[in-house]
Amino acid sequence: MRLELASRAENVGVARVAVAAFAGPLGFTLGELEEIKVAVSEAVSNAVLHGYLGAEGTVRIEAEAAEGALELVVEDQGRGIEDVAQARRPAFSTDPERMGLGFVFMESFSDSLEVSSSPGQGTRVRMRKRPTGNPGRQ
Ligand code: ATP
Ligand code: MG
Repeated sequence: MRLELASRAENVGVARVAVAAFAGPLGFTLGELEEIKVAVSEAVSNAVLHGYLGAEGTVRIEAEAAEGALELVVEDQGRGIEDVAQARRPAFSTDPERMGLGFVFMESFSDSLEVSSSPGQGTRVRMRKRPTGNPGRQ
C-alpha cells in the first residue's frame, strides 16, 4: 500500500485506519492493531507537526507484508532532525508543550524502529512488526 497525504492533522486519522485495514488480514490481535494505530499516529503527527511545522507538504506512507510481518514507512520532506539519537530519547522534545514520547511509543509498539533524517531534507521512519501468532520462517 502506498499513500500520499497532505500534511494536515485531519489526515492522521486517515493514515491510522488505512494502515489498520492493511494490517488486519496479517493475523494481528486487536491489541496489536491498536498498537499499530498508535505507532502510525505518532509518526504521522510528527511529520505534520515537526516536519512541516504546519506548512503544506506531503506525508508518504508505505505498508508492506514482508514474509508475514508488517513493514511500515512514514516519510516527510520537511525540516529533518539534527540529532536523531537525542530526538529518540524518552521525554526529549523541541516543543516544551509536548511529552516527547512519540518515538518511545513507536519503539515499544514495534519489533524494530529505524529513523533516518537529514536536516532540511526530511525524515523517514521505518517500523517492522510481526503478529505474535505468526512466528514466520525460522
Ligand atoms: P509527543 O510525540 O509526545 O507529542 P514529541 O513529538 O516532541 O512529543 P517525539 O515524537 O518523541 O516527541 O519526537 C521527539 C522530537 O523529534 C520532536 O520534538 C522533534 O523535535 C523531532 N521530530 C520527530 N519527528 C520529526 C519529523 N518528522 N521531522 C522533524 N522533527 C521531528
Ligand atoms: Mg511526537
